[in-house]
Parts: sequence; structure tokens; C-alpha cells
Amino acid sequence: MKIAVVGTGYVGLVAGTCLAESGNDVTCVDVDEQKIRALQSGVVPIYEPGLEELLHRNMKARRLHFTTRMEEAAGTAQVVFIAVGTPQGESGDADLQYVLAAAEQIGRALRQYTVVVDKSTVPVGTADNVRETISQVAKVEFDVVSNPEFLKEGAALEDFLKPDRVVIGTDSERARRIMGQLYAPFVRTENPILYMDTRSAEMTKYAANAMLATRISFMNDIAALCEKVGADVEFVRKGMGADRRIGYPFLHPGIGYGGSCFPKDVKALVATGREHGLELDILHAVERTNARQKRCLLTKALRHFGELADKTFAVWGLAFKPKTDDMREAPSVELIEGLLGKGAKVQCHDPVAAKVAQRYFGNRVLYAPSNYAAAEGADALFLVTEWSEFRRPDFKRLKSLMKSPVVFDGRNVFDPAQMREEGFTYFGVGR
Ligand code: NAD
Repeated sequence: MKIAVVGTGYVGLVAGTCLAESGNDVTCVDVDEQKIRALQSGVVPIYEPGLEELLHRNMKARRLHFTTRMEEAAGTAQVVFIAVGTPQGESGDADLQYVLAAAEQIGRALRQYTVVVDKSTVPVGTADNVRETISQVAKVEFDVVSNPEFLKEGAALEDFLKPDRVVIGTDSERARRIMGQLYAPFVRTENPILYMDTRSAEMTKYAANAMLATRISFMNDIAALCEKVGADVEFVRKGMGADRRIGYPFLHPGIGYGGSCFPKDVKALVATGREHGLELDILHAVERTNARQKRCLLTKALRHFGELADKTFAVWGLAFKPKTDDMREAPSVELIEGLLGKGAKVQCHDPVAAKVAQRYFGNRVLYAPSNYAAAEGADALFLVTEWSEFRRPDFKRLKSLMKSPVVFDGRNVFDPAQMREEGFTYFGVGR
């Protein structure tokens, strides 16, 4: 099939590349000329494991193209995906300006019947908005489908190529058939394609993300209580997860959820509720707990040291989670700003996110070339992102490098007993 993907961010680039991998002829379009120029010469602007190799292979096979010209991409496509950003608006609602601008540009470019697919995360009712926007300028027939994306950064290729499920919202039989054909190669493991109306599809995405955020905040509340009553949340987590009704995923306590999706999607769902006269009380609490949790390492450090001025702190991990360079709403940002605000010096290291981090901190922090270099002369170490290479450090070397052996482990990756044996003062979350 001939496909166009509008927006070459984390979602658009992965979707475009994976759709090309299954044999389609894909043209990705973006308004960012610099990004498109880089992509045309094979440079991938984001870090996503495996993406560069797959992109090169499909470019070489001439199944994957990049352009800034919408007509070139959407004019001849049978399916056009909208994968532009939907950032948080002023009142917490999703800002739809990019989606609607893309819809209008697509509408003007259409030359024959086309399925226009909303892949961006958009509030309930947006498919109707997009249909209306396109119909004002398009001269041909088209259908609008809602097909929310569930990929996780860091495992995006695997998630797109072998999704747990594909959600397709449409009331058009014609569009449903085309979408079924397009996704058939990705559901060979019998994972389902779930067909539904557009509003239910749009709601499914927000409900799923809000549920995951709720599990995280719930466990963070339990962790905070564990600290007060002298229980270890890591035992509690295992005891809970073994119950099949609960399960293990998303029960890890930590320093709060971040990233480009959970924070804004929870807020957008709350805003949708409010628009319809419904306060989503659980989600308000989820947000409150998350805000507290993002401050918890700083709170622990203040309690331990009293004063942070003129102290030096090592921070391991900047990205909001491992295997990505995405720092949107990353807990590291709040922690580092907090430390700097108290007059401390910060030496940080992340395997891939240092370049992105410069946009946040400029030259206010030191970007160390390795995790050990970051620890040199540090009064304490903060473990912020649980990259696997941080999990089993040489503790003797680490201790000899640090000024004082204090560790704030925001992801509970180290064993408290071992840390004490190694001579560290150790603080985890909920233990
Ligand atoms: P992103 O910010 O990384 O990329 C968006 C891209 O769209 C940018 O390159 C931007 O230049 C481009 N763009 C904006 N307007 C355009 C236009 N009119 N024409 C062409 N290009 C345009 O965004 P992202 O993280 O890929 O997210 C995209 C959507 O997918 C969002 O709605 C997000 O909530 C959703 N989503 C994201 C993830 C994720 O893990 N990042 C997962 C699932 C769903």
C-alpha cells in the first residue's frame, strides 16, 4: 500500500519505518526541515534501539522516503497517518493545533479516496473535528479512523511490530477493510485487532495510560506508607504481584512517572471530565502523589544533609526511562533543578540523553563521560534512571571515587543490605 505518515517524532518515525518494513511504500512528512534533511541522509534524530538499522534498510530498498511537501506524501497515498504532537494546552487539555493544521494540509493534498488515520493521542470527539476540517477543503471522498498508538519508547519497534492489540475506531466498512489489510502482518501472533467506534477508540488510549499512571501512583503511596511503618515495599510489591488478579507490571515504586505521555494524558482526561461536568477524583490524587514523588529524593537529601549548598552530587540517568533519550517531564529535571536551586553542584551521566539534557540545563551542570566520572568527589549519588549498566557497578571503585558514600536510589535497583556491607549510607524508596 502507499502510505503517508505526517509527523516524524517518536511515533511517526517508528510507525513509518515499521510500515515500510512490512512492504508498504511509505513517505514521512514533517514541517521541520532540518529533521527531514537529516532523515533524508539517513541520520535518525532520536535514540530508539534498532530504529536506525531498520530505517536504513527500508530507505535502501526505496520503501521509505522523507519530505516536507504534504502533496508529495498525501496526494497519492491510500492511507495517511496523523502522528503529530498533542502537547498539554493551557488548562491541561490537549492542544489540537498541530492535529488540525495537519488535517487541513492533508485535506488540500488528497487526490483520491483516502483513509486518514488519527494516530496521535487525541481527546474524544477529535475524529469528528478532523473529519469536519478535512471536508471543508477536500474535493474527494475520505474516511477518518482513530487508531491510537500504544508503543513504549525504548521498546517501540517490538511494540509496533508485535502489538498486544491494535485498536481501530471507524464506522466505515471500507476503511475497516483497508486498516485490517494494513495491520494483518503485525497480528500474526493472533493478538487482536479491536474494531470499535472512533470515540471509544480515542477514550481507550487515555483510559489505558491513566490506568498505568494510577498503578504507579498507588504503589508510590504504598511505598511512602512502608517508610513510615517500617515495611519494605519491595517485599510488598512481590507479594501483591503474585496475585494473578493484580500481576507484576507497573507495580514498581520510584520517583514518579514522567515522559511525553502519562503526565499530559492524565491531565487531558481530567480536562475532558471537567468539560462534561465530571471530576475524575482518582486521577486528581494520582497527579498529587506523582508531584510529591518527584520531590522525594530531594526531600530525603535535605533531611540527610540539612544544607545542600556547595555540595556536589552525582546523578546517574537523565532520560525519563532507560533506552530512550526523551527527557520530557523526566524526574531528573525536577531533581536537578531542585539541587541547583539549593546551591549544589551537579555532575550527571546518561548513556544517550546528555545531548538532549543540554537543552534543559545548558552549562549549569557537568556532563560526565561515564557514571564513574560523574561520581568523582561527590557527596552523594542519585540513581535516577535504571539503565542496566548502572545496576551492578563496582561498589569499591565507586566508594573510593566519592567524597562521602551516600546513595539515594530512586529506582530500588541496589540491595540495601549489600550497600550497607559495602559501607554506603543507602536510601531507597519505600524501604
Ligand atoms: P513528537 O513531538 O516527537 O513529534 C511530533 C512531530 O510532528 C514533530 O517532528 C513535528 O515537527 C511534527 N509536526 C507538527 N506539525 C506538523 C504538520 N502540520 N505536518 C507535519 N509534521 C508536523 O511527538 P511524539 O512523541 O511522536 O507523539 C506524537 C503523538 O503520539 C502524540 O499525540 C503522543 O501523545 C502520541 N503518543 C506518543 C507516544 C510516545 O511514546 N512518544 C506513544 C504513544 C502515543
